[in-house]
Amino acid sequence: MADIRRVLVVGGGVGGLTAASSFARRGVEVLLIERRPAFDVPGVGLGQPANALRIYDALGLLPDILASGFTYDRMSIFDPNRKLIAAHEFLLGDDRVPAFCALSRRRLHEILLAAAERAGATIRTGVTVSDIRDEKDRVAVVLSDGRAEAFDLVAGFDGIRSTTRQHLFGTAFVPRPSGYGGWRVQVPRCDDVRGMEFLQGVGSKTGAMPLADDLMYIFHIRPEAPDAVFRREDCADLLRERLAQYGSYVAEVAASLDAKSDIVYSPIEPVLVPWPWFRGRVVIGGDAAHTSPPHLTQGAAMAAEDGYVLAREVLDGDGPLEARLMRYSQTRYARSAFVYSFSYQWMLDEQSVRTPDDLEAARKELALNASTRIGASDRILDARVI
Ligand SMILES: Cc1cc2nc3c(=O)[nH]c(=O)nc-3n(C[C@H](O)[C@H](O)[C@H](O)COP(=O)(O)OP(=O)(O)OC[C@H]3O[C@@H](n4cnc5c(N)ncnc54)[C@H](O)[C@@H]3O)c2cc1C
Repeated sequence: MADIRRVLVVGGGVGGLTAASSFARRGVEVLLIERRPAFDVPGVGLGQPANALRIYDALGLLPDILASGFTYDRMSIFDPNRKLIAAHEFLLGDDRVPAFCALSRRRLHEILLAAAERAGATIRTGVTVSDIRDEKDRVAVVLSDGRAEAFDLVAGFDGIRSTTRQHLFGTAFVPRPSGYGGWRVQVPRCDDVRGMEFLQGVGSKTGAMPLADDLMYIFHIRPEAPDAVFRREDCADLLRERLAQYGSYVAEVAASLDAKSDIVYSPIEPVLVPWPWFRGRVVIGGDAAHTSPPHLTQGAAMAAEDGYVLAREVLDGDGPLEARLMRYSQTRYARSAFVYSFSYQWMLDEQSVRTPDDLEAARKELALNASTRIGASDRILDARVI
């Protein structure tokens, strides 16, 4: 659409970089600003399901991503001693894209950043938005470096603590503590871990995701105080204590943790902003609009889909900008609301296993139904958005 010539993307995560590439490849002038001074991305790995891989394929990035990660097509659910309860072969992907490719977050960002730059987007780090004024036919923005600039559209992909969301909705929709938190640590891959694994424990869940031939990450989800902050030097002892009930490779990893282990803790704070996700010429996507528990490993995937679909609806859609942004909001809300509710329920169900009797009941139920349940979600997520 000729009415969108200049776009400001706020935030250089998976969603913002995908949006920047998607607009810039279509000839739109894009400025992406990232608050952090450099792209030294924290965090460990990201499982990227087929629906995310299709977006990266559309941007010409699939070979790089597949070459950088570990592909897998199944998940397994075990008891705390890694005795198999249920096995599931994902109903995701096709001849071109595998069900999953997991890779380090840092590598995914490098690939997406290089793609946005190649497409012609201008990237400025260490910059944020100081003021934003929607003036009907343009948005006037003052940046934190003092520059005042005008855009046809501002796309806020500024993550879970989004200030663009705050501009649109005040503090009405904010991430709320779930009472659960996730621990993650990257370790050498154990030979048996060739797909996503969950070990259902009593009072917590642990698991692993392969990231490369020689690397995997262990995650651990459990109740934690909403305001918990852990000192880096205490993390190894705290995680070791928390993993005490688990056997197999988890016990070996727990025993190996020390002060040098790169342990990351994040509280799980979901938020789902009701649509529409825009007002005037300012719109949000990614974690700014929806943050779900990590169980479906769809957070970055939904952010990538948002970025791509936003550019497509805005540039190819019919009617005034408001109608195009409304179509973006409606389609993206429906899909992210599914991820939000499915993952949230999964977390509550697994975390309600509090006694050995609960574990036995869960074991029976998971053996009967888990694969069918996850398969139903696979079919929804595998539906083509592009
Ligand atoms: C424990 C855990 C495990 C996860 N595992 C997976 C997984 O396996 N697969 C998956 O797909 N997802 C996973 N996720 C979710 C995933 O990390 C997020 O959903 C995804 O990173 C969201 O991307 P985003 O671009 O919307 O936001 P972000 O990645 O948070 O990026 C937002 C960017 O905006 C910048 N920013 C913020 N405010 C401003 C501002 N005012 N001005 C300028 N810049 C700003 C930030 O510095 C950041 O770089 C996991 C999440 C957690 C917590």
